[in-house]
Amino acid sequence: MKPAIFLDRDGTLIFDVGYLPDPQDVKFFPETFTTLLSLQKKFLLFIITNQSGISKGITTESEVKLVNDYVVDMLKSKGVLISQVFCCPHAAEDKCNCKKPNPYFINQAAELYDLNLNDSFIIGDHPSDVECGLNAIITPIYVLTGHGEKHKNELKTDCVISKDIAEASKYILMHSNNDNF
Ligand SMILES: [Mg+2]
Ligand SMILES: [Zn+2]
Repeated sequence: MKPAIFLDRDGTLIFDVGYLPDPQDVKFFPETFTTLLSLQKKFLLFIITNQSGISKGITTESEVKLVNDYVVDMLKSKGVLISQVFCCPHAAEDKCNCKKPNPYFINQAAELYDLNLNDSFIIGDHPSDVECGLNAIITPIYVLTGHGEKHKNELKTDCVISKDIAEASKYILMHSNNDNF
């Protein structure tokens, strides 16, 4: 069984510029590439992203897919493999079961990829990312990039807080129990 890192997209891997219909507006944090290169030596990597702009009619499903594909392709060009992108298109009013903090996509990935959730982590810049990790019983790490600084007071529980994804990955590599991936 393999452990995994679940990555939020906006504000964690790339700058959060609001609803994002166009790959041209994707801007990676400079530390994203090297960080994921080192994490993928021990973990499978997944992206889980809430894209409520689709439900609200601000972006279309195909625009969001273009952006997700671009992110995956850019990472691939740097040698980083994202196993799968999970995207919730719903808004809170839709009361779906896949929007973070619901652990739906983590559990789905665990089944599809036979993951060891005991040594898996989620990294995100919103309290709902942290809650999603707690709901799936994996370790959450809150980053201060994106909306992280702004929403820090809304964290309901103590959790590891890192400046950015690079610092989060240092924590993970120090605290992972997994030696033989
Ligand atoms: Mg985010
Ligand atoms: Zn959903």
